[in-house]
Amino acid sequence: MNPIPFTNRYLALGEAFYKKTLPTPVAAPALIAFNAALANEMGLSTDELGTQDGVNIFAGNVVPGGAEPLAMAYAGHQFGNFVPQLGDGRAILLGDMTAADGVCLDVQLKGSGRTFYSRNGDGRAALGPVLREYLVSEAMARLGVPTTRALAAVTTGEQVAREQLLPGGIITRVATSFIRVGSFEYFSASNDVESIRELANYVIERNYPQLRDSEQPYVALLQAVVDGQAALIASWMQLGFIHGVMNTDNMSIAAETIDYGPCAFMDAYDHDRVYSAIDRNGRYAYSNQPAIGLWNLTRLAETLLPLLAESSDAAVELAQSVLKTYADTYHQAWLTGMRAKCGLSNAAAASKPDSDKALIESLFNVMAANNADFTLVFFHLSQLNLQASEKDDDIRRLFVDPAQFDDWLVKWRERASEEMLTDKQRQASMQSVNPVYIPRNHQIEAAIRAAEDQGDFSVFHALHEVLQHPFTRQQGKDRYMQPPEPDEVVRQTFCGT
Ligand code: AMP
Ligand code: MG
Repeated sequence: MNPIPFTNRYLALGEAFYKKTLPTPVAAPALIAFNAALANEMGLSTDELGTQDGVNIFAGNVVPGGAEPLAMAYAGHQFGNFVPQLGDGRAILLGDMTAADGVCLDVQLKGSGRTFYSRNGDGRAALGPVLREYLVSEAMARLGVPTTRALAAVTTGEQVAREQLLPGGIITRVATSFIRVGSFEYFSASNDVESIRELANYVIERNYPQLRDSEQPYVALLQAVVDGQAALIASWMQLGFIHGVMNTDNMSIAAETIDYGPCAFMDAYDHDRVYSAIDRNGRYAYSNQPAIGLWNLTRLAETLLPLLAESSDAAVELAQSVLKTYADTYHQAWLTGMRAKCGLSNAAAASKPDSDKALIESLFNVMAANNADFTLVFFHLSQLNLQASEKDDDIRRLFVDPAQFDDWLVKWRERASEEMLTDKQRQASMQSVNPVYIPRNHQIEAAIRAAEDQGDFSVFHALHEVLQHPFTRQQGKDRYMQPPEPDEVVRQTFCGT
């Protein structure tokens, strides 16, 4: 039996959409991690995948039976500039399959060698970015954020040349779709309306089957992606997550977080935080993410115009009416999520969305002015009682000038007491949305350093383990809650390309 029951639906789209490509075998594959829990969710048997046979598949040395590997074509706006041909330069789609729950999943190797789309790249990935993607994408899944998943990571036994020679790695990642906004742009650039229609139909069939019978399926598709991305980006903002390279080729049509490059969670709150070393103008800064989301979705809408209506005026009007909903959907999702983080419900505040918004924004302003740690502020807020102040110092000491936070705390207590909840109830609901642990940048860096410098993966595994239960405080794991010491601070992150 084949270890993964591939169906290869993407193949049927035809050769305009991809180039068939086999992974390039590597010298000495060795397992870093195999995600048996995900394999189970996918309905895969771990009998073979969990052995050296699996390692050979995850390294690209053996193409599993039934797979028809290919590299997908796409274009994209990179930092605002259109590039008509990007495509999978270091990723290969092994195929798609139907999971136990009926959901169709794509399985990709990333770092598995050159493809038709590699341009000057080597088609490889360094170990560091593989570990980062594995840790962060799996943490995101546990944090409840839609994301591509990591099924396995291996070392290749080969080196890759970056600024220096680095050990190579390959990640096997899984998504409900690897189709991007840039996939539509690829065909739009050559005015290939029929291919855009085929791609849109494929996405509807696979990812949005409920839209199949709508009166205007392509308008409905645009709306679904707009809604999904608005919710996704709001969930990033609620965790202090910065994607880093929100180019249109890194934006999923299935509204999952995809292409973990120089991404990071912030420690101290900073509205304009940028990590990515290549983002010199802060285009993809934390606070710009919602606006960039709309910018990217506007590029998607443009590609769909020929499908929306006969006349271009009517098409533009339809597209605009959909894009117009983004701001509201985003703000609703943001407000609902931020209220939940603060222990405030929508119901109790139906009449005061504006005052809740102001209350939340003023918290972020005090945090910014006082270098307060994003995750720890909400963690400690989730422990407070309304009538008793004995735990207040735990949160106050996160602020350089705690007095600046005291005003806010008084206002929060007033507002929170309007909820019909006991301290216990409110704490439980806040603790279910405010993580104890996030993949902190300095911890990821420590895991990468140990792996790269000493071949020691124990730091990686220990961090991964803690991040499997981000909302549960774990015995003896408090150091994973802590922001970096001054000498541990990671100021910039790199793509690894
Ligand atoms: P990214 O922004 O990292 O998602 O990558 C942008 C484009 O560059 C995509 O088309 C990638 O496939 C391609 N690319 C990135 N790194 C490499 C590499 N090492 N070899 C070949 N292509 C690459
Ligand atoms: Mg990419």
